[in-house]
Amino acid sequence: MHLTIHRGTNQIGGSCVELRSGGTRIILDIGMPLTDEFGKKFELKRYKQYSEQELVKKGALPDVAGLYYWSNTQKVDAILISHPHLDHYGFWGYVDPYISFYTGPIARKIMQLEIMAPGGRKSVSMAINYKSGKKLKVGAFAVTPYLVDHAAYDSHALVIQAGGKTVIYSGDLRMHGHIPQATEYFLEHAPKGADALLLEGTMMGTRSDERCRSEKELETEFEAVFRKAKSIVLVYCSVQNMDRIASIYRAAKRAGRTVVTDIYGAEVFNAVWKMENQKDMANIVKAMRVFYPYSLAQMLGTRNPALLRKYAGLQIKSEEIRKRAKELVMLVRPKMVDDLTIIGEMEKADFIYSQWEGYKAEPDTARLLDFVEKKEMACHEIHTSGHADRQSLQKIVDKLRPKAIIPIHTENPKGYKEFGVPVRRLQDGEEAEV
Ligand SMILES: [Zn+2]
Repeated sequence: MHLTIHRGTNQIGGSCVELRSGGTRIILDIGMPLTDEFGKKFELKRYKQYSEQELVKKGALPDVAGLYYWSNTQKVDAILISHPHLDHYGFWGYVDPYISFYTGPIARKIMQLEIMAPGGRKSVSMAINYKSGKKLKVGAFAVTPYLVDHAAYDSHALVIQAGGKTVIYSGDLRMHGHIPQATEYFLEHAPKGADALLLEGTMMGTRSDERCRSEKELETEFEAVFRKAKSIVLVYCSVQNMDRIASIYRAAKRAGRTVVTDIYGAEVFNAVWKMENQKDMANIVKAMRVFYPYSLAQMLGTRNPALLRKYAGLQIKSEEIRKRAKELVMLVRPKMVDDLTIIGEMEKADFIYSQWEGYKAEPDTARLLDFVEKKEMACHEIHTSGHADRQSLQKIVDKLRPKAIIPIHTENPKGYKEFGVPVRRLQDGEEAEV
């Protein structure tokens, strides 16, 4: 089996791996990088003036023959997405729509949401869904996806076999979220002694004894703040982080507060919970109230008025928010600063920052934090990583006992030595034989 990491040997985000065996070529993830060549947040709009072919030349899109819709060479046989985070699927709009596209069913639903990419790509002609633990045949490859615990919903690790060799791709995973048993199941059932384990190492830059707090612990911390706060509690977190949303919702319920989200959040929760077909999850959406931020409502008014109507029954307006401030937890985003100003009385609010600390430097986030500071809100930080800490990574290696580890999705590939298994370091674009 031949393996090429097109991006990810030395950075977090933008992962793209190619595997080739017996005349079949498959791609694992087609992510958008988190940072550009200057170390700033990667923004596709900065590349607007370039043609797609130029995007490949500039190194924004990975240089993979037969992957894109304009390519004339022999097509890639399949694309397999590990989970619905932009740094793993963000460039899917550029790939040839006739290439078979594998992912988890709910992950696909999230990727296809109109609100995630208005006017963007929403379908592929050959969509195949994962079923955790069930082997799929992809040309010369057999691929078994396993559901794992991660901040994104419906995340999978992949066991890939061809020509008598086994490669395991961890995707992004952890053991301290709400479904650690999923990761445990994967570790129990995946084959031991694989020829190579492509292991994510997002947390390899942290101290080795640093343990990630669990989502359960966070839930307790949220509840304490919700109980103590004298007025509205604003929480800044990713609405795609379903584990976090679940923690916030449960804590709010116990503290007697109602969660308010915006239309964007409502759309994401609605998609996930409908697909899961779980009554209690559907009830969560029904128990929430939906706020219509001015700029988002304006945009949807012209582009998708049906979406505005969809949540009209759950809508909460500024006046009610002001009146019921003490009973509410509101999920906020930087674009809502003007709306919060209009709602008013924010001096009394508590603010919880529930994201990776690195985002604080981004101009949008800085604007929100500036607003919070000016209003002198009581501030709290309640967060845990979506990725395995070093102790969990060690556990993963110990359970799987691979012949070699190949670092991916990490800024510290050197650190992998500590796991006690041979490390095979590759460079982006370098082809290796497994
Ligand atoms: Zn991820």
